[in-house]
Amino acid sequence: MEESKREYFRQKLLKMRAELIEALNKKYNEAIDLGNDGIQDSADEAYNIYNKNIMLGKVETDALKLQLVEQALRRIQNDTYGVCIECEEEINEKRLEYVPFARYCTDCKSELERRGVIKM
Ligand SMILES: [Zn+2]
Repeated sequence: MEESKREYFRQKLLKMRAELIEALNKKYNEAIDLGNDGIQDSADEAYNIYNKNIMLGKVETDALKLQLVEQALRRIQNDTYGVCIECEEEINEKRLEYVPFARYCTDCKSELERRGVIKM
């Protein structure tokens, strides 16, 4: 991949990382705060536990995404960015534009998802 393109994707990934960290902190704090705001009856409590789990689920997805972004940044450093880690073919740039942290080409991704190896 050309230097200028790599830099372009690096900036994209850095921006994404900053946004994810911010979102994670926010959601995490919201989930922690739930139900910690005074007296509540058992219906409130059930509702809060329900909400807390939904929020923590979202936190988990963001945390996973953040991990993928970090890995992509490392691949940029190692000059292996934009190459499918499964078949070592170049990943379509349109796909990278849409998913800058993509590890797999479209073919490998659908195959791995079908086999339930990956979620994202
Ligand atoms: Zn592949």
